[in-house]
Formats: sequence, structure tokens, C-alpha cells
Amino acid sequence: MATAKKKTATEARIYDSFIVGAGISGICAAYKMKKQGYHDFKIIEKANRVGGTWRENTYPGCGCDVPSSLYSFSFAPSSKWSHLFARQPEILEYLEGVSKEFGIEELIEFGTELDNAQWDEARHLWVLDTTTNGKPSQTLARTVVFATGPITEAQIPNLPGLDTFKGEMFHSAKWNHDYDLTGKRVAVIGTGASAIQFVPQIQPKVKELHVFQRTAPWVLPKPDMNLGDTSKQLIEKLPVIQKTWRKAVAQSLNVINFGLRNPMALKPVSTAAKQLLRVQVKDKTLRKAVTPDFTLGCKRILFANNYYPALQADNANLIPHGLVEVDGNTVIAANGERHEVDVIIWGTGFEVSHPPIGRKVINANGERLSDLWKDTSPEAYLGATMKDVPNAFLVLGPNVLVYDSFIGLAEAQLDYIIGGLKKIRDKGISRLAINPGVLQRHNDKVQKHLKGTVFNSGGCKSYYLDQNGRNFAAWPWSLAELKKRLSVFSLSDYDVQYGVKEEQNAA
Ligand SMILES: Cc1cc2nc3c(=O)[nH]c(=O)nc-3n(C[C@H](O)[C@H](O)[C@H](O)COP(=O)(O)OP(=O)(O)OC[C@H]3O[C@@H](n4cnc5c(N)ncnc54)[C@H](O)[C@@H]3O)c2cc1C
Repeated sequence: MATAKKKTATEARIYDSFIVGAGISGICAAYKMKKQGYHDFKIIEKANRVGGTWRENTYPGCGCDVPSSLYSFSFAPSSKWSHLFARQPEILEYLEGVSKEFGIEELIEFGTELDNAQWDEARHLWVLDTTTNGKPSQTLARTVVFATGPITEAQIPNLPGLDTFKGEMFHSAKWNHDYDLTGKRVAVIGTGASAIQFVPQIQPKVKELHVFQRTAPWVLPKPDMNLGDTSKQLIEKLPVIQKTWRKAVAQSLNVINFGLRNPMALKPVSTAAKQLLRVQVKDKTLRKAVTPDFTLGCKRILFANNYYPALQADNANLIPHGLVEVDGNTVIAANGERHEVDVIIWGTGFEVSHPPIGRKVINANGERLSDLWKDTSPEAYLGATMKDVPNAFLVLGPNVLVYDSFIGLAEAQLDYIIGGLKKIRDKGISRLAINPGVLQRHNDKVQKHLKGTVFNSGGCKSYYLDQNGRNFAAWPWSLAELKKRLSVFSLSDYDVQYGVKEEQNAA
């Protein structure tokens, strides 16, 4: 008779590596591993499609705010972008195309979620518990790459009275496309990167639009352009155009990066933003309300040409205060302003200082990472390797954020990570962990240098800072410096043990 208890099937073989996640980072990891002749890996993805961020975020107007010539893989330029800044559907299509073209899609085990990753100190192996369609199984691997994403967990504030709201509500990252906003009274909470993209899209169809703004963001004109068929054909025929444009974009972002470390250099940029405000916002009271009161760059810089015009439409109302309470269908701002609405759309961003992967990983001391990060935020060496987490690598981990394309950052980090994976395999290393002294010195320096940057001293509260005000996200130096540091995987930074432990155990 079959037992009611589910049995966990354990794969007999041991993989060299196990990749978790098939967003940009996972796709890139698989591509680069294959390219470097590193084939013994397994890749899982909890959803049924690749794409990560670009699969999950489907709100109207969703798109990248870095030109697509740079927000694309260096090994897969595309001549198909419809605009200089691509929209979400085509970014998702691009990622699906790349994973098909380079034979990555067929390697991915879709619908498989990592539940638990535990380092086995006795065997020097990762024990990975996963679930596929409710069926648990276990895989063993010598190394793990966590490509599980830096910006994934939608954040909704727990406000008094929220449970009394009878209307519809959803977060921008989980847009309810079945709910028709036409003729509805809508409250949008937040004015961050997502909200300024979807507000202009929904404003023309709703009856009333109340935008709750706690902090006015810096908004720069978006130098976007429609790329017609002729431009696309030209880019396809002459790839040098795309290459040159990619370089030019990278160089201009480098100038912004320099300014983030030397805020005075960003003066001309804030002047451009103020000019946009003067041109686009005629009403002085509204202009004052949407003028930021912190140094440009302290929070993510936003780009939009249609946000301020949408706020001035007859049906729109900017409330320059946060939402503090909900009473039935009435939303109440910090200044006491009240509005009855049919729907609340949370543009309140993401919880980034406590990445969800921490809840799944148990380190060499038997400690769950989320418990260690409870009162603080994660630390890693070059955003990739963590204390007491041997043979494991994080992509887009802490303190590697510079103002650039995340794709470029992931690519640079993966070159470093694959350098490490190859050293482990080729030198017969069974256990490799970042040396705690190296990690501490690195992070002390990072924190010291962040003090002078606009992220820490620009007078704002941003998602770069954790609950204690510690900057867990930004890299304090130039992108060139980050790429230089990531170009060499130096074994001397690591504590290393040689030998093939799992075989000794099996013997
Ligand atoms: C709305 C939005 C707009 C953005 N715009 C830009 C931009 O313009 N420019 C820019 O540079 N960056 C932008 N970003 C940042 C963006 O997150 C990165 O550019 C990039 O998409 C990160 O890719 P990733 O693969 O590291 O993570 P993700 O895209 O988050 O992918 C992680 C994948 O791992 C999977 N996964 C997670 N946990 C598990 C598990 N336990 N088991 C199995 N699978 C798992 C997820 O399902 C997901 O598919 C934006 C982010 C958001 C949210």
C-alpha cells in the first residue's frame, strides 16, 4: 500500500554547480558557463518562463530606464528595440530569444523552486531541496550560484484600517490586468520608479487620480526615441552603430557615477531637472510640492517626459504627503486630506535589504542567513561571496550597485564567479570560503568611502540604506574600479581546502 507521506527523491549524481533563477543573471550564468566549457551544472527556475523582473512587472508603461543598447547582454546585441529605452514586453521577448538562441532554455528545469539549501560540512557539498509541481526532490552539488534577484519582494505598508478597505488593491509588481480602471477613483501610493511610469498611462482613463507623494523624486527628461524600421535595418546592417552608442551611453553614465561620489559635479544635472520642472509645471504651488528637497542622486534618478503633465490633468490630484490610514474606502493622508476611492495601487517599491534567498540558505554553522540578517543587512565580498557560506556565489549581491545597467554588473560579477568555479574544479578544491579578515577589511573600506557619497550624505531615505541607516547596496568607487576588481578571482582572498571529500565519505 502506498504511504501518504511524500517521498523526497534524491538524484544519484553530484553536479559541479547548481544555478538558482533564470532572470538576467541566471541566463547569463548559464551562457558564460557553457562558453567557458563548464557544462556540469543544473539550472532551476520557480516560474514557467525565464525573465525574472521582466516577467513579473507588467504594469502599464513598464520599461527600462537605461538605454537598451546598454541594457542588453554584451554577447547578444539586438537591432529589434522599438525605442531607445525598451518596454517590458520586448525586454521579456529579448530574454526569451537569447535563452532559446544560445541553447539555455532547454537546460532550465522550470516550475522548480529551491526550498532549502544546506551546506554539508562533512561531505563538502550543497544539499538542495526543491519542489516541482508539489513533488519534493533533492540534488547534491559542489557549488551553488544564487541568481535569485536583488529587487523582487513587493513592499506594502501595514497601515491602520487597511483591512477595512472594500475596494480593489494591488502592487505595481503584481498588476491586476483583469481589473478595468476606466472611470474609477484611484489612489496611487508612492512616486518612485514604477509609479512615474504607470501614472501617465492610467491617468487618461480613470475618473479621479490621487497620487500620494511622501518624497518628491528628481525627474530628468527621458531622451527616448521611436526607432522605426529604417533605423532598425541600419542598426542590423551596421552593428558598429549599436557598439558606438553602447560605449557612448556607458561613458555618460560614468559621468553620473562620478557625480554621485562628487555631488558638486551633478549641479548641471540638477539644473536640467529644475528646468524640466519650470517648463512642465506652470502652477507654482504644485511645482514647489514636486521639487525634491535632497541632493540629486541620493535616491535613484528617474527619467520621464510625461509624468508632470499627467499630474496636471483635470482628473489628477497630487497629495504631497504619505498615506497614513485607511477607513473603509477612504484613504487618509498625513495632512488629514481624505478621499473616497475604488482602488489603491501600491507604487511602494520593494523590500531589498533582506533578500528572500536568505530564508532558504543554511550556512556552514547551521545558521539560516535570514536569521543572521534579521537586525542588519547582508555583507559580501564584491557582492558575491559571504562569510561561512562556502562554495556559494550570489549575483547582484550587496554593495555592487553603481549607476549603470544591471546587466553589465551581472556580467562582470559572473566573470568573477565563473573564475572561482573553474578554480574549484580545476584545482581540486573541495571547500572555498571568503577569508573573514579579507571580507571585514573590504567592507570597512566600502562603508568608510560610502560616507562621502551622495547616497549617504544627500539628505534622503533611500532603499540603499537598511533599517539602521547602513548602506548595503552601493559601490563607493567607479564602475571601472568594480570591473577591475571583478576581473581577477584571487585565491589568496579565500580559505581553501583541497581533496574530494564526498568520495572519501562514499568509500
Ligand atoms: C520594475 C523594475 C524596473 C527595473 N528597471 C531597471 C533598469 O531600467 N535598468 C537596470 O539596470 N535595472 C533595472 N531593474 C533592476 C532589475 O532587477 C535588474 O536589472 C535585473 O532584472 C535583475 O535580474 P536577476 O536575474 O538578477 O533577478 P530577477 O530578474 O529578479 O530574476 C531572479 C529569478 O530567480 C527566480 N527565483 C527566485 N527565487 C527562487 C527560488 N527559490 N527557486 C527558484 N527560482 C527562484 C525568480 O523566479 C526569477 O525568475 C529594474 C527592476 C524592477 C523591479
